[in-house]
Amino acid sequence: TKILDIQNLKKKYHETEVLKDISETVEKGQVICVIGPSGAGKSTFLRCLTLLEQPTDGHILFEGTDLTSLKEVQLDELREKMGMVFQSFNLFPNMSVLDNIKLAPMKVKNMAEDQATQTAQKLLAQVGLSDKGDEFPTNLSGGQQQRVAIARALAMQPEVMLFDEPTSALDPEMVGDVLKVMQDLAKEGMTMVVVTHEMGFARSVADQIWFMDGGYIQEKGTPEDFFEHP
Ligand code: ADP
Ligand code: ADP
Repeated sequence: TKILDIQNLKKKYHETEVLKDISETVEKGQVICVIGPSGAGKSTFLRCLTLLEQPTDGHILFEGTDLTSLKEVQLDELREKMGMVFQSFNLFPNMSVLDNIKLAPMKVKNMAEDQATQTAQKLLAQVGLSDKGDEFPTNLSGGQQQRVAIARALAMQPEVMLFDEPTSALDPEMVGDVLKVMQDLAKEGMTMVVVTHEMGFARSVADQIWFMDGGYIQEKGTPEDFFEHP
């Protein structure tokens, strides 16, 4: 079944057309890696999927609902099902790691505190940080912070996870741990759209690779199509 149905998506900033006419679908359980040069429109594309950025034209259907037709309140409800992870981790610096993860489920889903704590601890274990719950984000490495950001997104039990260059801001030695967590998620069947420059990850984890350039998806195919029949 389709999770995302992107129909004739266009985005202009003033007179500049950054996304030119994109129609694609993402099926449940699929991992899509979006690759392409800097300035291609990848980040804009990802932000348009959740309407963090308002498309100039076209439609984004999430589980059949046209996000472009919704009021902000309804949009917020659906966005809860779309986990976002950015290049910068955006953790709340004055809260412990555990509280960072607990906040949204408690505030938004009215989850009881003890249940939220349990969930958060389970997620911390999943990202390999069981012993870091009481730390503050600034005491963690970049790679650890990014794994907390992933756990925080997962705490809302999203239907799809969207990643915008999640490892680009990390020291090289941290990249592997974050990619491993993402790979595990993919194995568990999470639907994912990942903007990345990590070709090894794209090759081994993606079901489909979308090559974006100049505001279009110029090519798409399986990793085999991209890496074995260039
Ligand atoms: P990528 O993620 O592939 O590097 P981006 O989506 O960040 O590409 O940017 C695509 C193009 O859109 C770039 O030329 C960039 O300068 C431009 N752009 C992105 N965001 C804005 C904005 N808020 N206002 C104007 N231009 C923008
Ligand atoms: P990335 O390619 O990693 O998205 P950028 O440096 O292109 O990073 O963009 C960083 C931020 O600046 C984004 O929020 C983007 O929307 C904004 N931006 C990029 N280009 C422009 C631009 N020409 N005018 C205004 N904002 C821009």
